Amino acid sequence: MPKPCMPKALFVYSKIWVSSLLLVLSLNVQAEELPLIPPFIANKLTTQDSSLFSIYQLADSEPEVARKKLSKFSLEHLEKTDDIRQALYYLTIFRLEGALGSTEIWAGNKYAEDYIAKLISLGERVDQNWMMGEAVLEQVIEFVETGEYDQASQHIALVIEIAKQENYQHLLARAMKWRANIYVESSEYPKAMDDYRSALEIFTHQKDQIQQARVLSNISTVYFRLEEWQKADKYSRRAFKLIDKVNFDNPGVKAMLHINAGIIAKNLNKPELEAKHLRAAVKLSTEKGSRYAQIYALANLVTLLLQENEIETAIASAQRCLALATEVSDKAGMVYCNEAVAETYLKQQRYDEALVLSEKVLAQFDVMNNRKKSILLKEFISTIHEERGDYKQALAFYKQYADEGKDYLFDERRKQLFALQESYEAKNKETEIELLKSENALKTARLSEQRTLDQLWMLAALIFCLVIYLLYRRYTSVAKTNFSLRRSNATLASQSLEDPLTGLHNRRYLEQWLETAEHNRQLDAYDLVVLVVDVDHFKKVNDNYGHDIGDNVLTEIAHRLKDNARSHNDLVIRWGGEEFVLVLALAPESNIEFVLNRLRESISSTPIMSANHELTVTVSIGAIGGIKGDVIYEQWDTLLAQADKALYKAKSSGRDCVKLVGTY
Ligand code: GH3
Ligand code: MG
Ligand code: MG
Repeated sequence: MPKPCMPKALFVYSKIWVSSLLLVLSLNVQAEELPLIPPFIANKLTTQDSSLFSIYQLADSEPEVARKKLSKFSLEHLEKTDDIRQALYYLTIFRLEGALGSTEIWAGNKYAEDYIAKLISLGERVDQNWMMGEAVLEQVIEFVETGEYDQASQHIALVIEIAKQENYQHLLARAMKWRANIYVESSEYPKAMDDYRSALEIFTHQKDQIQQARVLSNISTVYFRLEEWQKADKYSRRAFKLIDKVNFDNPGVKAMLHINAGIIAKNLNKPELEAKHLRAAVKLSTEKGSRYAQIYALANLVTLLLQENEIETAIASAQRCLALATEVSDKAGMVYCNEAVAETYLKQQRYDEALVLSEKVLAQFDVMNNRKKSILLKEFISTIHEERGDYKQALAFYKQYADEGKDYLFDERRKQLFALQESYEAKNKETEIELLKSENALKTARLSEQRTLDQLWMLAALIFCLVIYLLYRRYTSVAKTNFSLRRSNATLASQSLEDPLTGLHNRRYLEQWLETAEHNRQLDAYDLVVLVVDVDHFKKVNDNYGHDIGDNVLTEIAHRLKDNARSHNDLVIRWGGEEFVLVLALAPESNIEFVLNRLRESISSTPIMSANHELTVTVSIGAIGGIKGDVIYEQWDTLLAQADKALYKAKSSGRDCVKLVGTY
């Protein structure tokens, strides 16, 4: 069969393709619907293929319906029939298996693999690269699902090459999505984000809402790995919204969405919502037999059940999880399930078994190169030692957790976040510099229950570590970010200097401003003051009135700050989240305290109106004064750190106040 000629401008072309396909197939679909097969085979479809093609389309969105239809489809002489029909048949099987797990149509474990091999040899025989591309992508999915990431990443490169060569955009987008999934597994979040974004663009262009929803859900996963729960929540909700809009009944995908949403709810402290999502996930995956989803739903559910003291159910779930993962030889799944089993051992005070198993799991996480899980598991092992009364070991593991955690969980997260925002949210620049929620606090609380002197000593040691750790974090947070800002200054220059929400300048602009400040003779006449302004209890605004009103409040605060910064040399920056950094140029004889309090009162004295709500909001201000223009660039990091420290004092002395320190 001759090689099909490739369209150059596919986006324009695909519309033409879809409409001609409609004529051929007389299918009852909208012109925008899913170009799931490459454009160039559309005009080769015969009418006999049309029913199979419609089943193939349905396999993704309504797999149950598709399965029923496929079981009535005549399979006789399939090998001898037209090659496109064969390929469609194989692809439909993959899709159904992905959504539903094995069912009676294709009983037997090796089935999917058989079809992959068949499709590859068919593709070779009839010289159709796109078939190979599809087949290899299915292989990749199998590799990912069984935790063989090295294999997966080698093969995905091939799929991408084929998709590009054949200009088969839908395959390219799916391949990029899977490559991103692989990146996520090795914690390469910025790369993953780039791929997700490219995939999302293609799917949006092709109006494939189901795939869009999947990618949004994956993006949400990235944020939740970075423990950015609000953002994760935002993307997860967007995914659910899209899925609600279309006729989508794919239990595998839905179950994964619920698992993600469950974990997010857990971290946003919404236990009821968490339970609702995880149970929905277990139900969906149990009913429809999507084992991969079932394994992960069960592993997550165990922790929740243990918290709720439903110990018997937790044990049963952990065991079922393990049995399933073993049955489908899902290596990564087995590790997660074993972790869940270890949790049940701990709850039953079977300390020795809990220890043996969790050390095994720890070794596996190291093999899988999953540093984050490995670090977190050390805390778990420390807890086991602690509960069995071996405080020396508990402390040893806890120290490892804290040390590695400090370097990795915290710094790594910050570094990743920064790079992530550069790559994905260049426009939405809002680097939220928020302290990590301290798991250490929990630990401290647990330890405080112990009575003996020995234990008290240990408590003191832990608190000491905690304080050093928190101080270190607070100090490095500012320095780190500034370092990153400098380093990436060159690449940032071409990008946006404005915060899209408030219209204020952003950090990038500040970096430029600082460089010019050094040589700006106009500033010589002034004393500069650096301020950090942080909205008080802003979380409550979001929690009580919703994110949109929260956004309005931020915008209004930004305007008021801007209005109050009077000199044209004054600078108002949205630093990130609900934090602003200002540099005010004041005449040397000014009463700084007075100016700062006026600024503070500009927020607190007049309620903010938004959507018929009248909100009284306050801010806390930390500031450092008496700075000369020629040193501000050089000393910026220290100045900002001092202003930040002053803010900390303002917060701890009751908020809605100003703390000023001076270099004079
Ligand atoms: P505190 O007085 O101690 O500073 O309390 P807080 O609640 O203001 O501080 P915290 O840092 O805990 O919470 C800040 C919140 O601001 C969390 C985050 O969801 C929210 N936030 C950050 N950026 C935005 C945004 O762009 N829009 C909205 N609506 N909320 C945001
Ligand atoms: Mg804050
Ligand atoms: Mg705040």
